Amino acid sequence: MNGLAPCAADPDASRGRRVDEPPSRFRNEFQRDRDRIIHSTAFRRLEYKTQVFVNHEGDLYRTRLTHSLEVAQVGRSVARALQLNEDLTEAICLAHDLGHTPFGHAGQHALNDCMRDFGGFEHNLQSLRVVDELEEKYAQFRGLNLTFESREGILKHCATRNARALGDVGRRFIDGTQPGLEAQIANLADEIAYNNHDVDDGLRSGLISQKGLCEVELFGRHHHGARREHPGAHDRIIVYETIRRMIGHVVHDLIGHSAQALAAAAPANIDEVRVAKERYIGMSDDVLRAHRDLKRYLHAELYRHPKVQRMSDTADRTIRWLFAHYLAEPAHMSSESGSPASAAGPDDLARQVADYIAGMTDRFAFGEYERWSGQAASRHS
Ligand code: MG
Repeated sequence: MNGLAPCAADPDASRGRRVDEPPSRFRNEFQRDRDRIIHSTAFRRLEYKTQVFVNHEGDLYRTRLTHSLEVAQVGRSVARALQLNEDLTEAICLAHDLGHTPFGHAGQHALNDCMRDFGGFEHNLQSLRVVDELEEKYAQFRGLNLTFESREGILKHCATRNARALGDVGRRFIDGTQPGLEAQIANLADEIAYNNHDVDDGLRSGLISQKGLCEVELFGRHHHGARREHPGAHDRIIVYETIRRMIGHVVHDLIGHSAQALAAAAPANIDEVRVAKERYIGMSDDVLRAHRDLKRYLHAELYRHPKVQRMSDTADRTIRWLFAHYLAEPAHMSSESGSPASAAGPDDLARQVADYIAGMTDRFAFGEYERWSGQAASRHS
């Protein structure tokens, strides 16, 4: 099968799309999924959504768009090395954050809280909702009508009560089975990408320091190696060298460890992957621990830094205010295809408001807050 491992996802053996479509002449089914994702409105909006730093804070920081591209790059390298399906991995990676709210985790947290009495808000579930329902691009169906395999990968986490309503794609959260290997790769590629680019952005912002990071084993080891080999290099180059080495280290370990696990278990096809007790894609214990230490450091020192926290508080207030406002004034929500569909009840209306807010970019959310509240969103705190 195209030089791929037998347990790789096979576009010709896909579980299919929700609405049947004739095949494309030039692209396989997963390539089509990827292309639909790239052409989606939600994908373009990622450019103006926060990763850690709010979009207007500086031109050099990651946004959700560049984050998603970096995730796809890591994911594709791993998939190729393991002879797994690179197109599917890329599609999942590019789509994984489509449902993310403005203002990063602060936005997601606030919206989930607003939706507490209406079924909650989960950004992974929202990413699936974007590709299944919310994108309005095709005359024949709602959403992007992606293959089961892409949808399975996009739905990284899901509460059991929500999984029940999803049918086939939600089953694994009830059965406790695994997603395909390409989805497993996308999952870890996400973590590798943000751990490393948040080090870069964090250092650039001055909120964390090289000295502090050197206490973290993974960073310290590679920083030391880069300094030793390039004693005359500029500080900034040393940081890049360090990050490059950290990514290389973790990715090589991930490939090696996963290759071993796959060789030992030799799953004959993707269904054997799904019913396996454990995931075959993973890092060695040592590297996993080192990677988690770095993540923990970033949580404590960067994501909870008072300056990031101040911005998060502003984001939180903005989202809560907008939610209450649209609930009271649904006509203030605009839509590309006219006014929003009328809601059948309060739950429906709340979900419409959540969809509307989740789809906003950072600056649109601030703009809407200023427009309807008549107050400045105090962007620069
Ligand atoms: Mg992500």
